[in-house]
Amino acid sequence: MDSFHPSFDLLSHAFEEEENVLSQQTSSAELIRTPSESSEDTDQADHKWLPMPFWAKLLRQHLPQSREPDHSKPITIISGCTGAAAEIGVFEALRLPFLVMSASDPNEKCLSFVTENYPKHTPTHWFRDLDAQRLRKACLRHSSACTCDPCPIGKGMADFALTGSPCHPFSRLRSNRSGTVEQHHEYETTMSSLLDWVETFEPKAWVMEQVQGFDMKYDKDASDTPMRRFLQRIAERQFSIGGGYWLLKFELDMASWIAITRPRNGKWRVHWSLLTGLQ
Ligand SMILES: [Zn+2]
Repeated sequence: MDSFHPSFDLLSHAFEEEENVLSQQTSSAELIRTPSESSEDTDQADHKWLPMPFWAKLLRQHLPQSREPDHSKPITIISGCTGAAAEIGVFEALRLPFLVMSASDPNEKCLSFVTENYPKHTPTHWFRDLDAQRLRKACLRHSSACTCDPCPIGKGMADFALTGSPCHPFSRLRSNRSGTVEQHHEYETTMSSLLDWVETFEPKAWVMEQVQGFDMKYDKDASDTPMRRFLQRIAERQFSIGGGYWLLKFELDMASWIAITRPRNGKWRVHWSLLTGLQ
């Protein structure tokens, strides 16, 4: 496997600078802040700026270093079941050069959404689903082609992957979730198709998004959770280029960033898992 993309080096420094600026701004704001005893104000105080992601430097320390890094090359991305192509928005905001080689999503409206909103970064190929992408079938943008190549730079060479496989089987908001997770028709999309996909492309770094229920027991008597079983299945796969992945798990509460107006039972949390190449 090739080394980690050098732009992450720049990103690490950018985080440091950003944190310094935000820290100064927060200090200035605190000086003119009017004390309040309202509960809303207390909540705001808890939502201070996110600290610098300590793991960015740790990741780099544990990943192979490029002998002659080429910062002019774009970060190569492969995307699976992403919905609104959040990765495009993020890389644009970070002002990092990038190329989305391919994406997949069963909802064809997603392609229209991405084409309208990100005309400069529309993925080169857009596949119907994870399996069509992995099997190099003709994509929705080139329906008359015999085949489309989702990752022309080869296995183990994509710098970054983002996947958001269906959450319905795992969601704790599904009323009859207990004991029925494995029977849900979309269960194997995550537990089999996604693993086939990752084994095929073996990206250097991979962010996987799932709901809180992904790491909740199958039922009250179960000893494991879908996430733990998913990790067991990853360990059984053959990663011939990099040897496997390190896992970092983040538990995020969307209410920290946006106002959720739909009534929900309790807080709505999302798991983000960052998996990076072992080599
Ligand atoms: Zn295509």
